[in-house]
Amino acid sequence: MTSERKPSRHPADPSWWLAEALAAEGNPAPAPALSGRLETDVVIVGGGYTGLWTALALKERSPATTVALIEAKLCGSGASGKNGGKVAGYWSSLGGMARAVGDDNALAIARMGTVAQDAIRNFATKPGRDVWWREDGSAAFSASRGQDGELADYIATADRLGVSDSVRLLSVGDVKALCNAPVLRAGVLFSEGATVQPARLARALRQAVLDAGVQIYENTAMTGLDRSSPNRVRTKAGEIIARDVVLATNAALASWPEIHRYVSVFSSFALMTEPAFEALAAHNWHKDLGLTDCRMFIHYFRKTPDGRVLMGSGSGPISLNANANRKALYEDDAAAARAERGLRRLLPAFADVPVAGSWGGPIEVSADRLPFFKTLPGTRVHYACGYSGHGVNPSYIGGQCLASLVLKRNDEWTSLALCTREPPHFPPEPFRYLGGNAIRWGIMTCEEADEAGVTASLSARFCAALPGLLGMKVGTR
Ligand SMILES: Cc1cc2nc3c(=O)[nH]c(=O)nc-3n(C[C@H](O)[C@H](O)[C@H](O)COP(=O)(O)OP(=O)(O)OC[C@H]3O[C@@H](n4cnc5c(N)ncnc54)[C@H](O)[C@@H]3O)c2cc1C
Repeated sequence: MTSERKPSRHPADPSWWLAEALAAEGNPAPAPALSGRLETDVVIVGGGYTGLWTALALKERSPATTVALIEAKLCGSGASGKNGGKVAGYWSSLGGMARAVGDDNALAIARMGTVAQDAIRNFATKPGRDVWWREDGSAAFSASRGQDGELADYIATADRLGVSDSVRLLSVGDVKALCNAPVLRAGVLFSEGATVQPARLARALRQAVLDAGVQIYENTAMTGLDRSSPNRVRTKAGEIIARDVVLATNAALASWPEIHRYVSVFSSFALMTEPAFEALAAHNWHKDLGLTDCRMFIHYFRKTPDGRVLMGSGSGPISLNANANRKALYEDDAAAARAERGLRRLLPAFADVPVAGSWGGPIEVSADRLPFFKTLPGTRVHYACGYSGHGVNPSYIGGQCLASLVLKRNDEWTSLALCTREPPHFPPEPFRYLGGNAIRWGIMTCEEADEAGVTASLSARFCAALPGLLGMKVGTR
């Protein structure tokens, strides 16, 4: 088989991860759906990492606070149960963060990422929990001539900010010692970085939240919110009266009028191979690293303890009006094929390894690639949005920030720029959709030409140059 083969087709839902996690639990019945009226201090809407970490933080800091959580489907059925399972904070984002929020704020966020990494490790490795936590760091590799230049920025920024030990330049020899593949040229290694079975992590959090005394209602979507004092969350068969509401619905928030201007929605697609220990050995790939190339619309990849490789491509379609329900965000043959082409090109020993499953899902991308944790003005309704495809570690920070906002505490969490800054705006529709598509096409065309060793067309290069000319960011890197 070659890289020209047709993409493998698989049902998009549930992800390979969630199916594996539910099977490991013996496919339990969901928590009961809400029926009737409930009064509680806090209701959390959304049962992914953000909602679950918020619930745990609230019960840890204020045990007497009553907390309920409603989830439209199953806890972990959103991005938290389908991501790449690469867990790292913000050391690899220092350059972009410093430009967006200044050096001191960037360093404060990166240090909180390390606090989050420690807390997630403590949770994930508790005796009796098996969420496949492995921790050998994370690396970015240049996989074409045009990507080589990206690596120097990581080192220069870390040196400039006095945190040189967060990242190390990898020579060609170092790269081959970590993952020996012909197209991988050089790289950088961040000491912070782990991999996890993401759906197992979400399901373990769900259990911990139940154990902490939180009432969870699954198959219970919020159908309306009356912002008042107290607030009223409406569902199909009931309502919840609550002093505080936490909206942890991820990309679904992107179309809210107050949030819309700060985020754009596109999607990320991932595949899981069948086990292939020989292919891993052929690449000399033994360490449990989270890996990416240096494309703007990155490939991200990691291995699993049972010898599989997950390969993802952050190149799914953009959604008009940031609507997170569009079918193309979940099922897009072209994006799924890009993930598969990435696998066969980056890791040629996997050329003939079958794909066990592939899936996609929306990511809400903020204009500065940082999430924001805030309270809707004049209300006690708090929310998290803008993870920009990087949320496994940051959703712990989100949970702590949201708990502080609920408990009205000014602390080390709420003083982060993630809570205090006014995020930059995107242009209004339809310019954002049309412009975003033109730029996405230009960059993807140029990146593919670069990998093929040819020059892209003038029109592609012009579109790819637009963000630089307009001072905008695109892609997920
Ligand atoms: C394919 C893919 C790969 C990714 N890879 C990585 C990675 O390797 N590393 C990384 O750090 N990040 C990655 N991410 C991003 C990361 O998964 C997310 O940022 C993170 O999971 C967000 O968690 P969350 O709890 O905010 O959202 P979610 O997990 O999406 O949870 C939101 C929940 O809200 C529920 N909901 C929505 N609307 C309603 C409603 N009206 N009522 C009730 N419930 C509702 C949904 O069903 C969902 O369960 C990836 C994302 C995708 C899609």
